[in-house]
Amino acid sequence: MSKQRRPLIAGNWKMNGLVGSATPELQELVKRAGDHPDPKCDILICPPATLLYEMVSLAEGSAVKIGGQNCHANESGAHTGDISAEMLKDAGAEYCIVGHSERRADHGESNAVVKAKAEAALRAGLIAIVCVGETLVEREGDKTLDVISDQVRNSLPGGATASNTVIAYEPVWAIGTGKTPTPENVADVHAHIRKELGSMMGDSDSVRVLYGGSVKGSNAAELMAVENVDGALVGGASLKAVDFWPIVSTCI
Ligand code: PEP
Repeated sequence: MSKQRRPLIAGNWKMNGLVGSATPELQELVKRAGDHPDPKCDILICPPATLLYEMVSLAEGSAVKIGGQNCHANESGAHTGDISAEMLKDAGAEYCIVGHSERRADHGESNAVVKAKAEAALRAGLIAIVCVGETLVEREGDKTLDVISDQVRNSLPGGATASNTVIAYEPVWAIGTGKTPTPENVADVHAHIRKELGSMMGDSDSVRVLYGGSVKGSNAAELMAVENVDGALVGGASLKAVDFWPIVSTCI
C-alpha cells in the first residue's frame, strides 16, 4: 500500500441484510473501529438501500462510513424503483458504488450508463467507486488490459479527481468464487490502470485503486501489499464483522 494514498476498505453487502441481522454486525464493526482512535485507513459499508438510514445512524460519530451500491443518473423523476444519488446523500451516504459487474451483467449497464451514474454521484457530493474488471473469457483471450482501458476511459466521470473518485479493479471471475489473481497479475492491472489515469487526470497519482474479488482475512495482507493497491472492495467477507475486521486490520 502507498504512503501517499489513504487506503479504503469497503464492504459491499449486496442484497443481504435485514435490520435485525445487520444491526449487531454494524455495531460490532463500530465497536472495533472505536478501539483505533486514529485509523490509518477509511472504512466503508455499503448496505442495501433499505438499511441506509438505520446504518448511518448506528455509525454516526465513528470511523465507519456508509455508502450506496448504485444510483440513478437523474436527480428525480418518473423512474419507479430507482434511487438517485441525491437521495443516497440525503440518507447520509458518503460514497456510491457504480458499475459493479453484477449491475453491468444483470442490468446491462454500459460504460456510458456507468459514467452517467458516476457523474450523478459527484453532482450529489458523493465519492464514486467505479468498478472495472474483465470476465474469464476476456482474461483467457488475453484481452484483460484492453477491457480495463476501455472501462477506465469510458466509465470514469467527467471532473474525476482523487478526492471524488475511487477505482475498484474487480476481475469478474474472482467475485464470489474464492479464486483470486496472483499478486503479479493484480500488480500488472493496477499499474495499467494508473497509467491510464495518468493520461486522463491531473492528480492521478493520488487516486485510490482498490482490488476486489474474494478478498478475505487469509489473503488480504498479501493482496494489500501489492504495489498500487490502495485497499479492497469486499463482498461476502464484509457481511460479518468478525470476517471483515481482519481485512480492515491490514491497514488500520
Ligand atoms: C464484490 O462483489 O464486489 C466482491 C468483491 O465480492 P466477493 O468479495 O464476495 O468476491
